[in-house]
Amino acid sequence: MSHPPVPDIVLSFEDARRLVEQQAAGIKPGETEVVDLLAARGRVLADPVVADRDLPPFPRSTRDGYAVRSADLTKVPRTLDVIGEIKAGERPERILAGIGVGQAASIMTGAPVPAGADAVVMVEHTTRQERRVEIGRAVAPGENLVPRGAEARQGSTLVDRGARLNEASIALAASAGKAQLTVYRCPRVAVLTTGDEIVSLTSVPGPTQIRNSNSYSLAAQIGEAGGIPVLLPIAPDEPGQLRDWIERGLKSDLLLMTGGVSMGRYDLVEQVLTELEAEFFFTGARIQPGRPVVFGRCCRPGRERPATCFFGLPGNPVSTMVTFSLFARPLVQALAGMAPSPLTFVHARLKSEIRVKPGLKRFLPALLSGEFENSQVELVPWQGSGDIAATARANCYIVVPADRELIAAGDFVAMLMR
Ligand code: AMP
Ligand code: MG
Repeated sequence: MSHPPVPDIVLSFEDARRLVEQQAAGIKPGETEVVDLLAARGRVLADPVVADRDLPPFPRSTRDGYAVRSADLTKVPRTLDVIGEIKAGERPERILAGIGVGQAASIMTGAPVPAGADAVVMVEHTTRQERRVEIGRAVAPGENLVPRGAEARQGSTLVDRGARLNEASIALAASAGKAQLTVYRCPRVAVLTTGDEIVSLTSVPGPTQIRNSNSYSLAAQIGEAGGIPVLLPIAPDEPGQLRDWIERGLKSDLLLMTGGVSMGRYDLVEQVLTELEAEFFFTGARIQPGRPVVFGRCCRPGRERPATCFFGLPGNPVSTMVTFSLFARPLVQALAGMAPSPLTFVHARLKSEIRVKPGLKRFLPALLSGEFENSQVELVPWQGSGDIAATARANCYIVVPADRELIAAGDFVAMLMR
């Protein structure tokens, strides 16, 4: 049976990334589940967290000191009458009812500022004499207090749907009394490694065999992006078995394949996908490492819709890692229910010059070092895109634009952080 040829769609890095982002934007997040707040870190919120009361719920003092009327302190030093003390958590009604002209109340951090007072003077600027206090410094209205509701109003959204829960949003949820949160189920991302020479890490490799490392680097990256990796067995470079495993992988929310997408005689992934009538968005990007990267979607056999997106990632281990970061991550994030994080680059001065052949945008393993304003970055010597040892010593990738041949020492370069 003859099949149409594999399309040749090679894009610039920017166009390829845009295509991925467009596909990610069209993804609707899936089912939800309820988790305990303590298990919510890294999950994606499906039900917004709403403030059940104002934050802060009362005008909160941010200092230990004296609640005062700022107008009383136009001339300092000034001595005020102390009408009492307000501790955090207490409600001394008589004091909270209001302090009058010439009066002050001793107040602790986190305690409610009484009516009438519009500022807090830090205790460091005061001298207490029994029931009176001498204030050495003027204060502006509003100083050292947070007005009721200034951080959030009752009924307002504290954490939006689609937010990935971190320590700050978890603190907000706790402050709103949410012991449990509704989050999206994590998408299942199938990982299919291909290659006759690849063996499981539990078997003893023959002299020319290579242990499977890509499934594990991908599992780590998938987890980090909010997905659950589902490792399929290692598929041989044989179309029938490859097809069976690809069909199995398409039952997941996303399928990542590694290896078998280059120009070699035994690189069969695209051929098999063509037989399965896949739609290809691109079959290459002008980058290094990772040029043969493939992105498309394919319906599960016997099913019309929805199609499952897939990536064919080049098998060289560094290519696999880089192409996941550049292209697959937004899909995993979108399937997990969050807005994909934009690719952000940080900049530092280059320690020693870089010379490359122009034509490909390069992402080269590098080490950012130094601190404060003295950070600098340099390439990690490597043996090419199979060199995981060098890449493990790196902490970022220097981005070399496709039209550059030379970047001089001392120039600022862009880096993609790991
Ligand atoms: P390929 O993309 O299939 O041509 O593979 C490119 C290179 O990556 C070859 O040297 C492979 O042996 C190596 N490779 C492919 N898959 C893996 C894997 N799962 N783990 C480690 N190395 C791999
Ligand atoms: Mg191969």
